[in-house]
Formats: sequence, structure tokens, C-alpha cells
Amino acid sequence: MDHSNTRTRSSFTLQEPIQASDALKLILESTNVGSREGVSFDQAVGRVLAEEIRADRDLPPFPRVAMDGFAVRSEDFRTGKAKLRIVGTLASGEEWPEEVASGTAVRVMTGAPLPPGADAVVQVEKSQTSESEREVLLEEPSIKRELNVHERGVDARAGDVLLQPGEVIGAGQVPVMASVGASSVNVHNAIRVAVLSTGLEVVPVDKTPLPYQIRNSNGPALKAFLSENAWIKPEEKGIVADELAATKDSIEKALGSAEVLMISGGVSAGSFDHVPQAMKEIGIERVFHKVAIRPGMPLWFGKAPSGKLVFGLPGNPVSVLVTCLEFVLPALRKLGGLKELRGPKLFLTAQARFGKRKHGFTVFHPASLSNDGAQTFCSPVPYHGSGHFLALSHSDGIAVVPPEVDAVEPGETIEFHPWRWR
Ligand code: AMP
Ligand code: MG
Repeated sequence: MDHSNTRTRSSFTLQEPIQASDALKLILESTNVGSREGVSFDQAVGRVLAEEIRADRDLPPFPRVAMDGFAVRSEDFRTGKAKLRIVGTLASGEEWPEEVASGTAVRVMTGAPLPPGADAVVQVEKSQTSESEREVLLEEPSIKRELNVHERGVDARAGDVLLQPGEVIGAGQVPVMASVGASSVNVHNAIRVAVLSTGLEVVPVDKTPLPYQIRNSNGPALKAFLSENAWIKPEEKGIVADELAATKDSIEKALGSAEVLMISGGVSAGSFDHVPQAMKEIGIERVFHKVAIRPGMPLWFGKAPSGKLVFGLPGNPVSVLVTCLEFVLPALRKLGGLKELRGPKLFLTAQARFGKRKHGFTVFHPASLSNDGAQTFCSPVPYHGSGHFLALSHSDGIAVVPPEVDAVEPGETIEFHPWRWR
């Protein structure tokens, strides 16, 4: 190893960090919504809807029996009871051919169309059928029109918008699409994200590290984090040593097949942090470098002439995931056509103190959730700095102490961002 002064060192110009809210604003201003494609219904799961889904007919399309029982005319129940002649049985999937006359009832199954003339259904549990099966005594003190009937159009009217563009297609959306016959739909194209790791000390997971080396955890962490979204296609592009020429080369190659590049490490003030210089020489325009956040202060963001986005994430494992959640994911969500760019912000009761050492900075603490059956608490997980990756596996998300607040005391309200949500 060459420890002389001949190894190229990066030249670093000091800049003031910008506020987290300004950084996010700049990122989103630099991001445009991506392209779309048509896919078949079964390929659409996990993708982002790029069109409105409307009801093709009233839902339900006919007045639907909601209980197994007897279809009746409610006017026949004068005292909450009625003795009626059974005129037949109607299964779901069949139609009753004639009017139900006063004094009669039709035995009906859940899902059948309400026979014409009938206006209510009395549950089978409230019936006593005569031995001959020709008559039924029904007791229903709360009889009224539409009882146990799912009225036509009560869920939605033909033409109503049921799903909006920008929704992720999950188990809640699929039955809606299926019900209106949306067998092929327009979705946004999956976003291809290249993940590149830097560091002379970093070796692949399957290599035995020397005593002064560490295994690459950032590349796999980012890939795992992004892979939780089926509309993101992350690809690991390996590890590059801290050399300017190699860094430039790897960045250019990684950008070739992706719309977004995330590069971890090499953006701080160290002598061998070449990422900012490499970006400059390649012609990737810096939008900002350094944000007033802890962890993650050296965050770098830029845009290539092609419009591709490049995020230089500080290499510490906690910084990597925090900056990915807070700054990269909103950009990916915009690019991917999602309606909501941010995850939910929960306002919870702090169970312990969330302090900070740097006024004016936004501080993120890995935190976990608990509850006492009445309220939800947020607690900091044991955490002694951005290199402490073990804290991540114990956390449900991150608690946020805003720049103007110096500490959140136990019992006070704290803002919490979950790692994952719907
Ligand atoms: P850097 O941002 O390059 O100065 O790295 C900050 C810290 O994160 C150093 O302790 C690095 O060894 C560590 N680090 C950088 N990249 C990785 C990686 N891919 N996996 C695990 N730790 C890393
Ligand atoms: Mg490094």
C-alpha cells in the first residue's frame, strides 16, 4: 500500500449545509414523472396505476340478497311476524321470473338477485318452516324495506372513479379492477435504480475481509430497502475503490442502464472522498452538497444532462438508509408516478428523551413503537452513532427532531416516519 503523499487526494470546498426541507424541495423540483406502459391484469400487482379505473356498471349491478333467508314484501309484516306461502327457491346465479305476490315468500341464497316485488330478506335463523315445507313463519320485529338487501348501485354508480392514477396496485385495488373487468391496465414503468458502493476498505459479502476491512452492507441494504417496492428495480453495481478514475468509470457504467444512481460513501471531507470531483468531471450537475441533518450531513445530489438523478449518500450504514427514506424515496415515488410522495408522518408520545447536539439540524433517531392499549409510544433504540448498523434491525422507523427543537422530552409528541407502509 502506498502511504506516501503521491496518492491523489480530493480537493474539497467547504459549503454551508442547506435545510432538510429545502433539500427535498430541490430534489422534487429536479424530478419528472416517468413513462408508462400497458400490462395485463396479473402483471400489474405492485405496480403504480397510471389511469383512472371507473365502474363499468352499477355496483352491485342488481339488488343483491345479503343473507340466506326468505325474500318477502315488508308490508306483509304487520306485527313483526308473518306466515307466508313458500313459492320456490332461488340460488345465486339465477333470476326469479315473476313478481312475488303479497302473502308469499321465496327462499333465497346470499348473492342472488332480489326477486321482483320483494323488498326485504328475513334471515333463515328467524324462520320456522312447516313440515310440508310449503309455509314459513317469519319473526322480524325490525322489518323494513331493504333489510338484508345490498341495493343496486349502493357501492358505486356506473362511471364513478374507483381507483386513481398513482395508487400502488395491491390486494385492495385488485378486487376493484377485477370487478369492473379491467383486464389490462396502464401502469408506470418500473424505476431502474443502480446502487454503487465505494470504499477501499469495503469487500463483497462472500469475501473474507482482512483485519482492517469490512464487508459491504450498504449495497445489500439499499437493494433490500428498494426491493420492498415492486415498482422499483434496484441493481447492485458492485464496489469501487477510492480512486478518481475508477470512480468516474464506475459511475458512468452504472448510469448507463438506470434512471437513478445511488452511490454510497466517498462524499464526505476525507482525502479520498472522490465522488463530488468525479461527478464534476463527468458533467453531472451538482444541485446541492451537504444538508443540515444528523446523520447524513454530507448528502450530495445532482442531475445528469440526460435528466438522470444521482444521489451520493454518506457511507455510514444508518446514514444510508435514513437519507434513502427521507430524500431518495420521495424522488423515486415522483418518478414512478405515485400520488403520495411521502410516507405517513405519525405523531406519537415519546417514551424517552430524544436529544440533539446540533441546534439548527434535523436529527433522525432510529426508533421503535410500542403501546399500552390506549396510546402508541415511540422510543429511541440503543444507538451510538451513524456507524451503528445494529440499531437498524431493532427499529420500526425514524423519529424526527426538527431543526428549531433542541430535545423532545418523555411524554411530549414526536414525529415518526415508518420504514415501510402500504
Ligand atoms: P465514507 O462516507 O466513505 O466516509 O464512509 C463512512 C463510513 O461508512 C466508514 O466507516 C466506511 O467504512 C463505512 N462504509 C462505507 N461504505 C460502506 C459499505 N458499503 N458498507 C458498510 N460500511 C460502509
Ligand atoms: Mg469511504
